[in-house]
Amino acid sequence: MQLIDGKSVSEKVLKECSAEIEKLGAYGKVPGLAVVLVGNDPASKAYVGSKVRTCEKLGVYSLKIELAEQTTQEELLKVIDELNQDPKIHGILVQSPPPVHIDESAVILRIKPEKDVDGFHPENVAKLTLEDSSGFVPCTPLGCLRLLQEYKIETNGANVVVVGRSMIVGKSMALLLMSNNSSGNSTVTVAHSRTKNLESVCARADIIVVAVGRAHFLDDKHISEGTVVIDVGINRVEDKSSKKGYKLVGDVDFDSVVDKCKAITPVPGGVGPMTISMLISNTIEACKRTI
Ligand code: NDP
Repeated sequence: MQLIDGKSVSEKVLKECSAEIEKLGAYGKVPGLAVVLVGNDPASKAYVGSKVRTCEKLGVYSLKIELAEQTTQEELLKVIDELNQDPKIHGILVQSPPPVHIDESAVILRIKPEKDVDGFHPENVAKLTLEDSSGFVPCTPLGCLRLLQEYKIETNGANVVVVGRSMIVGKSMALLLMSNNSSGNSTVTVAHSRTKNLESVCARADIIVVAVGRAHFLDDKHISEGTVVIDVGINRVEDKSSKKGYKLVGDVDFDSVVDKCKAITPVPGGVGPMTISMLISNTIEACKRTI
């Protein structure tokens, strides 16, 4: 069994990013990322903090905009409009989920597609579907793909089961893996909450990508001998022995599947760190495209 070390691959990606940032410097360009947080959700605050810290470490200009919980839709759209016009900002990210009174899709629609480094704008979704590489691809599935590439896990002709069909992970992952190119070419099945006999669907898979949002959801009953498991889930479960009172676990029951797997991503230290490095990579790409 091989442990897929997302932390070290993420560091490799960030090193590549540093080299790209240096090259951009020769053109007088500094990539800039704006991260907008509405409200006080502690998990969202932590994600935003770590994105901004990574930017600072690498020399990416970052703008953290923290807005009160009661910020109106109009006020938020005005902030987006300003960031769309700001030449120092190449990427805009609105941390999800916003408070319930905010219409998230209207906010995404307002971000200029060329600054939508999260890859959520309909124009970028269309480009992903059309296999047009001029768009931006959501960071988490992009990170999963990079992990498969780094560990030389063959996707061509592989049977892949993606469990979860959100745009941010499952659907985009499926589109990437079914793409007609050498990092795709998989035969993809997408499972969701209405899927019947999930265990037998998963049993056919050479590669399983799980993005469900339920701790320890996938176990040894879903896995055949030699399966590669990519666990996207990040779930907080109570842990009295930890100072914080909780720990992070994936959607996969790691201990139950580990002996059957060919390779697996741990949580934490698997897909999570890749998401941030792919975000920086997308921001650099957005900056390059302004030259
Ligand atoms: P969503 O809630 O948007 O989607 C969950 C998906 O899981 C849905 O498609 C849902 O099906 C499906 N699902 C729920 N229950 C079952 C079930 N019993 N059987 C099969 N499918 C089921 O979640 P996200 O995609 O946003 O996130 C998923 C997980 O990934 C979360 O733990 C999240 O924290 C994590 N995540 C991690 C990231 C990272 O950086 N590592 C980034 C983004 C997310 P249906 O559509 O039918 O409701």
